[in-house]
Amino acid sequence: MAKKQFKAESKRLLDIMINSIYTHKEIFLRELISNASDAVDKLCFMSLTDPEVGMGRGDFFIRIDADKEGRSLKISDNGVGMTRDELESNLGVIARSGSLKFKQELSDQEKEGNDVEIIGQFGVGFYSAFMVSDKVTVRSRAYGSEEAWQWESSGADGYSITPCEKDAPGTEVIMAVKADTEDENYSDFIDEYTLVSLVKKYSDYIRYPILMEREKSRPVETEIDGEKKTDYVKYTEVETLNSMVPIWQRVRGEVSGEDYSAFYKEKFHDFEEPLLYTHVDAEGVVSYKALLFIPGKAAYDFYTKEFQKGLQLYSGGVMIMEKCADLLPEHFRFVQGVVDSPDLSLNISRELLQHDRQLKTIAKNIERKIKNELLKLLGSEREKYESFWKAFGMQLKYGAVAEYGAHRDSLQDLLMFYSSEGEGLTTLAEYVSRMKEDQAGIYYATGESVKMISQLPQAEKLKQKGYEILYLTDDVDEFAMQVLRVYKEKEFKAIGGGDLGLESEEEKKELEQKQEQSKDLLGFVKEALGDKIKEAKLSGNLVSHPVCLSAGGFMSFEMEKYMSAFQPDSAAKADRILELNPAHEVFAKLQNMYGEDKEKAKKYVEVLYGQALLIAGLPLEDPAAYSGLVLSMI
Ligand code: ADP
Repeated sequence: MAKKQFKAESKRLLDIMINSIYTHKEIFLRELISNASDAVDKLCFMSLTDPEVGMGRGDFFIRIDADKEGRSLKISDNGVGMTRDELESNLGVIARSGSLKFKQELSDQEKEGNDVEIIGQFGVGFYSAFMVSDKVTVRSRAYGSEEAWQWESSGADGYSITPCEKDAPGTEVIMAVKADTEDENYSDFIDEYTLVSLVKKYSDYIRYPILMEREKSRPVETEIDGEKKTDYVKYTEVETLNSMVPIWQRVRGEVSGEDYSAFYKEKFHDFEEPLLYTHVDAEGVVSYKALLFIPGKAAYDFYTKEFQKGLQLYSGGVMIMEKCADLLPEHFRFVQGVVDSPDLSLNISRELLQHDRQLKTIAKNIERKIKNELLKLLGSEREKYESFWKAFGMQLKYGAVAEYGAHRDSLQDLLMFYSSEGEGLTTLAEYVSRMKEDQAGIYYATGESVKMISQLPQAEKLKQKGYEILYLTDDVDEFAMQVLRVYKEKEFKAIGGGDLGLESEEEKKELEQKQEQSKDLLGFVKEALGDKIKEAKLSGNLVSHPVCLSAGGFMSFEMEKYMSAFQPDSAAKADRILELNPAHEVFAKLQNMYGEDKEKAKKYVEVLYGQALLIAGLPLEDPAAYSGLVLSMI
């Protein structure tokens, strides 16, 4: 029988497993039991809607058989099993994202020279069996099929698939346990006591009985010639090793933080601690239990289309959906967890579930719960919240913008921004609490970096007055402002355009007067620049800068940059308004030149316009011409 070769990636993972010097080899048992449990889940779910299956919730099991003499260990289940093709495709390649992630992390680690330390922090699946065995045999019969197939491999040199006999659907994984070495006592893995404790440690919550035949003895009293004697008689009994109570069904106070965290890592294939977890036990219109986790970091594919949001959904302990997307709003798509409700109808099809009223109620409650947990975190553990924000803040901002701001009110208190007040992040509530009495609104400015924004000419006067400015550096920020519009009755005001409400009535009047007096000059400026600007006017917002550009209409410069990045030939442009500082000596110079030499004054105007563009972070329309212009004046 010719051996088949593993796919390259799988071979690599397999090599690592076989040659692993990792000390936690015991996790292989957890992995195989978890596979068995998944397979049972699948058939159990089918049995709900298909009477043909002929099995009830209580008929399913996972079984461990240790054969000390034969040095083999068998894990069997009566789940869905695998067809020949499935054996081939499931065990010949790396199937799971966890395994893929593992592989990725591994090559990163290898670059740094530390090899296998990370094994076991991942769910590495079926291949982990090779950490403890020389040969692995999988015998499986798929539900609904008459045939059974055997997959066998002694490691990296490939595998074979042959027909075999098996009278019921399900799978058996048989491992030829390695011989003991100086460093490793592989015999542990066929030792009853070790196996019992490993099941307790890793798989206690598995919802199907994990059975094992155990050797027991019981005392027997005998009386011979009036003399009493106790003998011990040995017998075997099949025992259920796990408590079968899933962690979310346990009483909240009785589960430790470590339990939650271990459950999270194992279930969701993360090797980092969750940033936050919460155990919900809700009774009301709909009763349910839930465990919700916020990961410590965004998954490597979190910001891609591949990432699937959703919570695992159970009804009375039976898993009905692996990732129920309807349970999570888009803005909380980073949340992982399980929901279990006896109120959900089991016979419901997965499509109908979408319209289920109970499900909608649960989803709403969960959303509220997550929001409150986050607010709590923000209030009590600032540093942690900020690390949450760094990982998932972008998602919240998108959430605030999405659906025309439908979630604005519920998300606005979770948002954070950089600002002119110190180095750190600030919330809107904090900003408002620091607002000056006479301050007209919440000022914000957008730009590429905090540094660039902080140097905007328009920011100067605000800072002088002690008004804080939010520094927005993400593309989505500006859209968020447009959607938020007001926060606690304070209007958001872009410092790059429009009236900032900085001047007193008197100052306004004075400026109007000056504007009137400079009418000719401003007309000249507009004419000199033509279509490049919409208007030239005097500004009361400038301090040390002679000019600046502000955006006139709805569109800001940042939006313009954003649009042109996506559509290079986009004609959408923000209205440019050239603002001149009448108190600046350059303005006086320009005025003089306008009186003396119009040709030269035109050049001044062009140079000033170029300056304004550069400071606003906008490209010069013709850099060569601009450079020539400056040189000609020197
Ligand atoms: P994962 O379980 O993470 O997907 P594995 O390498 O452990 O990755 O398993 C690969 C696939 O093989 C599983 O997704 C499943 O489809 C199948 N499989 C493994 N063990 C069993 C089993 N006991 N019964 C049925 N299918 C199984």
